[in-house]
Amino acid sequence: REELERHIRERDAAGTRKLAEPKLTRKEEEEAIRRADALEQDDIGSLRKVSRREYLKKREQKKLEELRYKKEIYELVKKRSEDTGDMDEYRIPDAYDLEGGVNQEKRFSVASQRYRDPDAAEKMNPFAEQEAWEEHQIGKANLKFGSKDRKSRSDDYQFVFEDQIEFIKAAVMDGVNVDQEPSTDSIEKTMANSAFEKLQEDRKTLPMYPYRDDLLQAVNDHQVLVIVGETGSGKTTQIPQYLHEAGYTKRGKASPIALAASEEPQEGEYRRQNICLSQGHVSQEMNIWVLGTFLPIGCTQPRRVAAMSVAARVSQEMGVKLGHEVGYSIRFEDCTSEKTILKYMTDGMLLREFLGEPDLASYSVIMVDEAHERTLSTDILFGLDISRFRPDLKLLISSATLDAEKFSDYFDCAPIFKIPGRRFPVEIHYTKAPEADYLDAAVVTALQIHVTQPPGDGDILIFLTGQEEIETAEEIIKHRIKGLGTKIAELIICPIYANLPTELQAKIFEPTPEGARKVVLATNIAETSLTIDGIKYVIDPGFSKMKSYNPRTGMESLLVAPISKASANQRAGRSGRTGPGKCFRLYTAYNYMNDLEDNTVPEIQRTNLANVVLSLKSLGIHDLLNFDFMDPPPAEALLKALELLFALSALNKLGELTKVGRRMAEFPLDPMLSKMIVASDKYKCSDEIISIAAMLSVGNSIFYRPKDKQVHADNARMNFHVGNVGDHIALLKVRFLMITTLFWHIIFLVYSSWRETNFSTQWCYENYIQVRSMKRARDIRDQLEGLLERVEIELTSNDNDYEAIKKAITSGFFPHSAKLQKNGSYRTIKHPQTVNVHPSSGLAQVLPRWVVYHELVLTTKEYMRQVVHLFPLIFLFLISFSVTLAVM
Ligand code: ADP
Ligand code: MG
Repeated sequence: REELERHIRERDAAGTRKLAEPKLTRKEEEEAIRRADALEQDDIGSLRKVSRREYLKKREQKKLEELRYKKEIYELVKKRSEDTGDMDEYRIPDAYDLEGGVNQEKRFSVASQRYRDPDAAEKMNPFAEQEAWEEHQIGKANLKFGSKDRKSRSDDYQFVFEDQIEFIKAAVMDGVNVDQEPSTDSIEKTMANSAFEKLQEDRKTLPMYPYRDDLLQAVNDHQVLVIVGETGSGKTTQIPQYLHEAGYTKRGKASPIALAASEEPQEGEYRRQNICLSQGHVSQEMNIWVLGTFLPIGCTQPRRVAAMSVAARVSQEMGVKLGHEVGYSIRFEDCTSEKTILKYMTDGMLLREFLGEPDLASYSVIMVDEAHERTLSTDILFGLDISRFRPDLKLLISSATLDAEKFSDYFDCAPIFKIPGRRFPVEIHYTKAPEADYLDAAVVTALQIHVTQPPGDGDILIFLTGQEEIETAEEIIKHRIKGLGTKIAELIICPIYANLPTELQAKIFEPTPEGARKVVLATNIAETSLTIDGIKYVIDPGFSKMKSYNPRTGMESLLVAPISKASANQRAGRSGRTGPGKCFRLYTAYNYMNDLEDNTVPEIQRTNLANVVLSLKSLGIHDLLNFDFMDPPPAEALLKALELLFALSALNKLGELTKVGRRMAEFPLDPMLSKMIVASDKYKCSDEIISIAAMLSVGNSIFYRPKDKQVHADNARMNFHVGNVGDHIALLKVRFLMITTLFWHIIFLVYSSWRETNFSTQWCYENYIQVRSMKRARDIRDQLEGLLERVEIELTSNDNDYEAIKKAITSGFFPHSAKLQKNGSYRTIKHPQTVNVHPSSGLAQVLPRWVVYHELVLTTKEYMRQVVHLFPLIFLFLISFSVTLAVM
């Protein structure tokens, strides 16, 4: 007070009229707030040691005191300013806006208009609005979400949390078997004295556990078994372990892992065997112990992250090191060893192994997990009938949904083993009106939940469509949390998506500390592949990224599209695992009923089949039209694939595999890429070409692009009336997210420069290049080098002869050529379509007459709801090689 009085006196003395107004300069205001904050922080610091409730109470008291104090000051100031006449309302200090960001500024202005406090003095005090805003932001959320007794407060406050989202509670998804206690008869409630024992205890609480013996019996009795159980019941992590415990990994052929003869073998696991060792001309027969015959159990996952994460978990449960007894194998990354007995892998990997070993002789059991996802590779594996060649191979097909009959029918009425799941009832809430910006709506909903519900109550899971969106959401949440001040409990943000570094993946499974809440931002991966315990709230915007393919134009794209009803229900079910849950759908009940398909279209019906056709051909399957597909792809798509392979000279005119085709099939890459590699043999530039192929395989995560808010704005405002995913024309109504720009020569130069620096990390930092992606590219490159050897292509460098490189690229990518038009756009040759070069590509100024591109990508612009406005389509040329003429 003294200070303020002095301040006023001084200003008075200076004779400024302004000074009578209680407006301080922005700097002064900031300083005052900073000081007040510092004061408060000191106090709170000492309070932190006390319980949270006490701390909040004390803080409340302090606030009141402060308010009283500020009111006094205000009165004082007012007295001084009476003679100055006009008295403005106080502005919120700019500093606050800075903290809260643009959105809050907007919201604040709405709030301040409506804010009418009977106590005028309080209204005028420089801090009142800020405080009130803070209070009400929290209070308001209470009104909408909190328990009934808080409802009465709504009359007292006129505040509107502007983008408050209103939900209508619709249905309650019934719980299943919730009152049936988990079978705990075998669980001794003794305190587990080590993490390992704790894990063993946990294993016994899974819904799967009581059915262990029945399951083993069923596996024993039948060769093919369909297993159905709710997500999280323990199918993926437990079944392979049960089978291992029951000895399935020990059967089959011998594996000559020798133990010194003098060592005593552990019972049962080793057996004596005579072997013949020869060295030079000397050969000697020896009697040694051989590790008991073992064959691994393979378990496929539709996603890389799932394979890695589940393998990590199982290795913990078994108390072994990841990569030893338990390992995973995904494309370009093999984390297994000779010892591996439980092998988690992507279905694509199993398909590739099948190409090399059609009887899968090295496996005792194959479990095709998440079969309901109906990925391309799973479908093909089914069509190949992998169990047909070996009566002793057990085939388990596990699914989280009830379409099991279909699998059973397909496999000659294979028996279905149902694991009664446990699911608590889930309340479903829909929005009143469609949400224009689902990302923003998701964030607001999450914060509403967070501020209104006690932190220990349960975690939040938000389904988003991809990495970019997840990162944006993370930023927005962090930003807004800051704006909410210190009153709310800690919110731990855990992203999970395919490219998330392994170290960070484990974070989502860490138990939430007391007093905090976890919000998991996940892609579809959390729908059924990964189960995160402790989720009580699910926020479902209703979208996922989906591959789609138009056989007419040959264009394949990854688009954000509405999910199916089946997916929506799976997502909702994630909230009812450990107790009654709530699912907030950011779309209306009408949308759900009328706009969502019942089931997701199987991938095989919406993808480019060239790769599959090449694989099948290399397996000797010629009659593709009569191949036993579970859901046959459109004939047109098959023909397109055959046509492309013929054009690439992988097939001859009789549709038989050529030598080129056989070589191409060895590479786990798309046919155009593998053709490019095979062609590099002729042009003597395989060294350069595999670098390019490796860089392309890393995808669009090479350049590091610091984020700004733009991305948020760029996010597609999606419309539900997008139509059938398979129908490309309908999808064109929406303009999509642009991803990134890469050019043949740029990626090549990036790689070769990096190699010149001897793979320096520092160099990457300096050039805004993601080290991790580069390392991955290097790994992939090494593997491609190995494959070159296998198809007998010599590793040759053409000393950066760009003509040769371009020829090799064009041998693979000529179907992707486009010619410049007068108006500056391009026209694709094969399926005439006008496409534009994305402005950010840097190509706009050069515009070569001909280009070959790697991919066409639809780009995003804001899409206005209800306004069906067909903007000219913008496509992004990911890669142009003609421009190399100008640049190289
Ligand atoms: P299902 O395959 O039937 O959906 P899972 O076997 O994947 O079920 O999961 C069983 C349990 O194991 C779940 O409670 C899940 O939380 C836990 N779990 C699975 N993977 C991990 C992991 N990587 N870290 C921690 N817990 C995990
Ligand atoms: Mg699973």
